[in-house]
Amino acid sequence: MSDVVDRFVRYCAVPSQSDPLTASKVPSTKEQFDIAKVIAGDLTELGAQDVKLDEHAYVTAHWPASAGAEDLPTLGFCCHIDTAWQSYGSPVHPQIKHYEGGKLVIGTDRDGHEVAVSPETNPRLAQMVGYDIITTDGTSLLGGDDKAGDAMVVSLLARLKDYPELPHPRLAVSFVPDEEIGHGAALLNLDEFGAAYGYTIDGGPLGEFCYETFNAAEANVRAKGLSVHTGTAKGIMINASEAIFKFHALIPAQERPEYTEGYDGFYYLERMQGDCETALADYIIRDHDQAKVEARKQLMRDAVAFVNSQYGREVLTIDIHDQYHNLADVVCRPENAHLIENARKAYASIGQEMTCIPMRGGTDGSQLSFRGFPCANLSACYYNAHGVREFVPVPELEAMVDMLQDLVALYAVPQDVAADAK
Ligand SMILES: [Zn+2]
Repeated sequence: MSDVVDRFVRYCAVPSQSDPLTASKVPSTKEQFDIAKVIAGDLTELGAQDVKLDEHAYVTAHWPASAGAEDLPTLGFCCHIDTAWQSYGSPVHPQIKHYEGGKLVIGTDRDGHEVAVSPETNPRLAQMVGYDIITTDGTSLLGGDDKAGDAMVVSLLARLKDYPELPHPRLAVSFVPDEEIGHGAALLNLDEFGAAYGYTIDGGPLGEFCYETFNAAEANVRAKGLSVHTGTAKGIMINASEAIFKFHALIPAQERPEYTEGYDGFYYLERMQGDCETALADYIIRDHDQAKVEARKQLMRDAVAFVNSQYGREVLTIDIHDQYHNLADVVCRPENAHLIENARKAYASIGQEMTCIPMRGGTDGSQLSFRGFPCANLSACYYNAHGVREFVPVPELEAMVDMLQDLVALYAVPQDVAADAK
């Protein structure tokens, strides 16, 4: 078993789901400390510098540059240690299966039903005949999202230790909690981290690359009605719930998540409740184009004004705030273009074409990039994440360590800003 597979299986076996119901504290679950300790222990054993596990379960460390690359900017990597909360996540029983084509039976779920994957549901499986594939026994998710990323980064450092002649700049690595509940690496101390730029490793199939995310805003609509006895309500009652319905009817029906894909943006009614006296509706707005987000915000404000004009008084109020921005706005700046080009070259070095995915969501990088750590997202090679059918192909896991070795080598020379800008 290669060392990255050994690490990955070991990390998966340590349950570490995050929990949106306890999101007010970081980490949201104490189990995340369990995996943080394992990773911090591995980093210490390898001889990484500044290994730190803080009170929020953030693990950070540095790795010194190879000879001659000491003066170059530090390259950073960021992965998350929590696993998804939407499926069973504890205990986790990882196993390695040899795939011989057709249907791959993973095991049985907690209700006794067969859990399997096949090329019909996962077309890429057709190219994986003869691969060893890591799955669970069907009773839980695997946690390849994002323990594959964690294992790749630690295995990269192990390789640099074994082969000190491999060229690379100083590296900063971070393993952060609560990504699955939108925490966004908010407590990562970027001054201590000290990376000029870098990558998150939290994507799907080998070759996938993401430097485009949504721009995101939230809109909170509140209605204040006037409740009177229904028998004597004529001309007096203002039903707050009805006011919310009037507002919702003005939001373009085709621009909803269930009708959109690719670069389409949307409005999503996330939550609503109400009675005659008060009512509320919370929406999120998503679009890759910030100008379109602004247009949607204006449409919602105009809708509120229209409903209020019908009542002849202020029944509705709206509060809109931005949540995160498209990381392409930072990564596509000329001075950061090397993040895309070097990823393409490093994938090419392992014979893999790079596929750019406009992510219909955000990444830890969406926030980190705007806080001064420009980072795009590399493949962690997990499939069917967030469920019991999750799997990670061994050859892809191993190939990504080679890819990272080539990627850090590309940063062992000065980045020619002028060349990248053209
Ligand atoms: Zn993830």
